[in-house]
Amino acid sequence: MSRPLALVIGGGIAGLSAAFELYRAGWEVSVFEASSRWGGKVRTSPVGDRPVDAGPDAFLARVDHGLDLCRDLGLAGELTTPVAPVPAYVHVGGRLHELPSGTVLGVPTDLDALRASALVSPAGVDRAARDLTLPPSTVDPDPSVGAICRQRLGDEVTDRLIDPLLGAINASDIDRLSLAAAAPQLAAALAAEGSLIGGMAAIRATTGAALGSRDPDQPVFYGLPGGIARIIDRLVAELADADLRLGQPITGLDQLDRVDRADAIVVAVPAFAAAKVLGGCQDAAGLLAEIEYADVSQVVVELPIAGLDRVLDASGILFPRVDGRLMTACTWLSTKWDYYARPDSALIRLSAGRFGDDRHARLSDDELVDALLAELRSVIGFDRPPIATRVARWPQAFPQYTPGHAERVERARQLLDDYDPRVSLVGSPYDGIGLPACIASGRAAARAVLGR
Ligand SMILES: Cc1cc2nc3c(=O)[nH]c(=O)nc-3n(C[C@H](O)[C@H](O)[C@H](O)COP(=O)(O)OP(=O)(O)OC[C@H]3O[C@@H](n4cnc5c(N)ncnc54)[C@H](O)[C@@H]3O)c2cc1C
Repeated sequence: MSRPLALVIGGGIAGLSAAFELYRAGWEVSVFEASSRWGGKVRTSPVGDRPVDAGPDAFLARVDHGLDLCRDLGLAGELTTPVAPVPAYVHVGGRLHELPSGTVLGVPTDLDALRASALVSPAGVDRAARDLTLPPSTVDPDPSVGAICRQRLGDEVTDRLIDPLLGAINASDIDRLSLAAAAPQLAAALAAEGSLIGGMAAIRATTGAALGSRDPDQPVFYGLPGGIARIIDRLVAELADADLRLGQPITGLDQLDRVDRADAIVVAVPAFAAAKVLGGCQDAAGLLAEIEYADVSQVVVELPIAGLDRVLDASGILFPRVDGRLMTACTWLSTKWDYYARPDSALIRLSAGRFGDDRHARLSDDELVDALLAELRSVIGFDRPPIATRVARWPQAFPQYTPGHAERVERARQLLDDYDPRVSLVGSPYDGIGLPACIASGRAAARAVLGR
């Protein structure tokens, strides 16, 4: 008797996680990937003479999905936590400010620390403190992060803390970022305690480690020496006898080999591509096509330590949108991860781009490197040319979870279920953009298929 058959469209972490789950349950699996390599946004490539992540360099430890997959792939023992969970800086108004202690997802739970930091004016701190006494917010069922934070904490804290943390992670404009879909912890905090500061302080008291404590026994992130793409390599190796096809862009279900015989079809491509694949179900495709994307670019530079004016004593610097800089963040990779540390050079990642700011996309690689290095030079000071440089372009990389996102996704899934119950939607456009969420969505869809 023939084995059940799954067709997976998209060979990023979500599609491969789904394929892995079905394959090891004894299913026949075909994976169709448009590009010439596996991994999608997960990519590791050389900077000078060593491999450096070009997409994600870490994943959250607070949820188990990343760790669980690494356990299943025999990689868990190699996972590494940041050298010391060193703080980050925020650069605003021409000055560097250490991120105030007690900041959780941008919410300042320690107002004394906020006052001491001078990141926000005394009036701004007083305005944020009003969050503790304002009546519970009455807003739309799914407000934007910006709307709720401006209402409760005021503009200064929202622009200088919430924006660089939540806006930068999502490459978003926080004023059009769904609170429920992109910052469910903030929504839960508000619902539980009636204030963001009180709610996040309560969460910090119980799960402080997970949300940013400096306790090395309870890591916030994991990285992988040699690069996160090793997870992809291992997944592909585990799928050795599956039917794995690169260079196969799919634009409609009828294009899939053996579609009539398939028992499950996992769609693990960006939403705009899923809208084409599922064009036969017009209403669902229309909803998927509404999900917008932001482009980002990342430049990694290796700089001689001797030429640096500043000791790199943090994980990096965040640049709030209000300052209008090209750079959204700069990560001191060689301070954060011991496998990138070298005695004579520093490895630094410079990020640009978010929804509504595509200046980076209009620059050539050389112009982008020059512009970002000029901004970096103005902040940390250095006088020698880079030893090595790598530019990574990520067009249409970050799906935007705008207000109403969860409802839109649920509706699309319902419509698809009526259209063809074999189809599931997985990956970053739907239930979370981080690697653990993408892994979870792929594996959960596979388990749902297995449980049918
Ligand atoms: C620069 C950057 C840094 C990031 N940093 C982090 C981080 O530090 N930590 C973290 O947790 N997350 C991070 N993320 C987010 C995370 O990497 C992504 O959300 C996640 O990898 C997306 O996985 P996916 O499988 O859903 O989609 P993708 O990786 O986009 O995979 C989809 C695949 O489908 C293929 N495809 C597209 N169209 C078709 C088609 N028509 N037919 C067949 N195949 C098709 C694509 O080529 C791609 O391989 C980062 C993302 C980027 C871009």
